[in-house]
Parts: sequence; C-alpha cells; structure tokens
Amino acid sequence: MPVPLLDVNAQNRPLEAELTGAFQRVLKHGMFILGKEVDQFEAEAREFLGVKHALGVSSGTDALVLALMALDLQPGDEVLCPAFTFFATAGSVSRVGAVPVFVDVCPVCFNLDVNDARAKITSRTKAIMPVHLFGQSADMDAIQALATEHGLRVIEDAAQSFGAAYKGRQTGTIGDFGAYSFFPSKNLGGLGDAGLLATNDDKLGEYAKILRVHGSAPKYYHHHIGGNFRIDALQAAFLSVKLKHYNDYTAKRQVNAAFYAERLGQLPGVVQADPAHCKCAKAQSASLDAAQAKIVLPVGYAHNTHIWNQYTIRVLGGRRDALRDFLWSKKIGCEVYYPVTLDQQKCFAHLPAHSLQGCEVSHQLAAEVLSIPIYPELNPAQREEVAAAIAEFVA
Ligand SMILES: *Cc1c(COP(=O)(O)O)cnc(C)c1O
Repeated sequence: MPVPLLDVNAQNRPLEAELTGAFQRVLKHGMFILGKEVDQFEAEAREFLGVKHALGVSSGTDALVLALMALDLQPGDEVLCPAFTFFATAGSVSRVGAVPVFVDVCPVCFNLDVNDARAKITSRTKAIMPVHLFGQSADMDAIQALATEHGLRVIEDAAQSFGAAYKGRQTGTIGDFGAYSFFPSKNLGGLGDAGLLATNDDKLGEYAKILRVHGSAPKYYHHHIGGNFRIDALQAAFLSVKLKHYNDYTAKRQVNAAFYAERLGQLPGVVQADPAHCKCAKAQSASLDAAQAKIVLPVGYAHNTHIWNQYTIRVLGGRRDALRDFLWSKKIGCEVYYPVTLDQQKCFAHLPAHSLQGCEVSHQLAAEVLSIPIYPELNPAQREEVAAAIAEFVA
C-alpha cells in the first residue's frame, strides 16, 4: 500500500459537513473580508495560545513581513536568522530592505545556535528570528537573554510550531512577535493560504492591525504605509472548524513519533540524538562515530512539547539520497527539508561576507536530513510499512 508523506484529504474528508456548513454560512451573508468569522477565529487563537493579540493574516510569510514592518526595521539593519530553515524566514527580511545574517544551527534539535548568533552580532544588528523548526521550540531563554543584553527585537518564526510549548509557554508568544502559518502542510492546515501574527505588546498589536489594512486609520487616512495582509473570512471559518480537533491531531502525531522512536530505535546502527550534545557539533559527531551510527532519530526535549510537523532523521555516511530513492521505490513518501541552506542560495550571494560565514552544521544537515510520514491520519499498518522499509535498508 502506498504511504504518502502527507494526506490532507484524510484529515479534511471527515470534516466535510462542518466545512461545507462554514462555507455556506459565509456564502449566505456575503461578508468575505474581515468581519465575524475573522473576529471569532482570532478570539479562539488568543485563547488557545494564551496571548493578548492575534491577527489573522494572509500567510505565514505575510505574518513575518508584517512583524518586521511593525518593528520599523530599516534598510541596512541586520537580522539574525538560521541558515537551515524554509526560505520565507530570510526572504521576508530582505523584502523590508533589511539584511539577513545567517546563523548556524544545532545538529541535535536543528534550531538556531545561540552561541553562533552572539558571535555574529554587530552594531547594526536589530533583531533575531528564531525558527521552531519541525515543530520543536528553539532555546528561547538563551535567545531572550541575548536579545535583552544587546537590545534586539525577537520575531519567532512559529510557522511550523502552532501549539508547541517551551517550558509551558506557547511558542510564538515569548518574543515581540510570533508568526504562524496555516499552509495546508502545517499542523493546523487551512484550505489554502493563511497565517496568524501574535504579540503580547498592546502597542505593537495595534500598530500591526493598522498595517494589515494598508496603514489606514481611520479608513482612508494613512499615517503609515502598510499592505493588504488580511486573512479571508472563508479561511478563518474553516480554521475555526479545524482548531476544535487540533489537540487530537497533535496527540496522534506524538503517538506516531513515539512509535518510530521505539521501532526504529531497535535497529542496528540507529541511534537517538543525544540532548546532552545540543549545540555541540564536535561531541555529537565523535559519539556518533563511536556508535557506528547509520541513522540518527530526532528527539523532543523534556522541557518542550514537540508537535512533530516533520519527523526528520539524519542519514549518515553519505547514504541519504540512497534511502530516499529506496523509500520512493516502495511508494513511501519522504522529502528533504531542506536541501539547500539559505546562505547558499543564489539570491543571497550578493550579501556581505559576514552574512554568509560559518554555517557548517547547516550544510552538513542539508546533506543528511530526510523527513518521513508523521501526519495524524497515518495508520498503524502504514507506519509499520515505513519502519519495515527502513529496517530493510539498514540491514
Ligand atoms: C511555511 C513556513 C513559512 C511561510 O508560511 P506560508 O504560510 O507558506 O507563507 C515561513 N517559515 C517557515 C519556517 C515555514 O515552514
């Protein structure tokens, strides 16, 4: 039986009556822009996240751009962001005219290496953008401490981490702003593009709300230049339906992750990443060599609630592409997130040298990572098939 990497229909089909009802409600009243459904979804999101302000926006990317605009980032200002992430993290920095400075990541948790971030601070550094990659929080205490010490703004790219917690606090609510995505492949997946911008700061929340509608306040009076960053009423209505089921989706992803850890962890040459080696590339590779590891499984740290947007393994010994091709040949979905680090993208080649230096762990990960199916509706027979195929490969 083929096993897809993700099956959005398996999640949306059981909700067909509820989603159709939401569509018919909006169709009937005809208020497609902002209004009741958006207000309601924002209230539900505030409650879910435990945050003071939540703005429904057009996408996760626009949430990032809106955050950077609301913080008045200026041309030439530098923003620290990880080299190993989805493009939008740094693309949004460039779009407001600021300069991304790429920071290396941790080989254990895949998140921003705070020591490397500290080393790359200059007099022009204005903000830091941690990404909670694959659904696990970055080291927010260390990031907030660094930001306080150097007067930096913190924008959390929480596109992959809606509902993931750090020491009991929701990711995306700790820094100045948190940006979430509801792209269909994210854990809370819409029926199209949508996103959310969260903050606990009243002033920033108000300002972002004005910038979401072209900087207009009151209507047709512009003290600022914003953009059209609004979420559709239809998407808000659909997301309200899906949010009710969200904790169940997360629990199922966590069950799947626990299955892989148990089942794959028994295979020869398969080891669990060691949290003790977090942000310590040298110790990590030394101990992995000693264990003759072929595959490293991801870990969720005890202080984090990991929501497993992706279950990403590292395939050592230059065999990642071989495993990917092997799984594909068995019709098992898998994907490389991400094959090219941001410091190596052509569009950033013109950046000053210090933006592009010292991202060796990111380069290594780009050559080793492989994400395997983890979505909530993956059934026991399917995940057993994934595990059996990996067992065959390492045997
Ligand atoms: C998906 C994603 C985004 C962008 O979100 P969109 O809704 O697709 O615009 C930004 N950053 C990260 C890390 C993402 O995974």
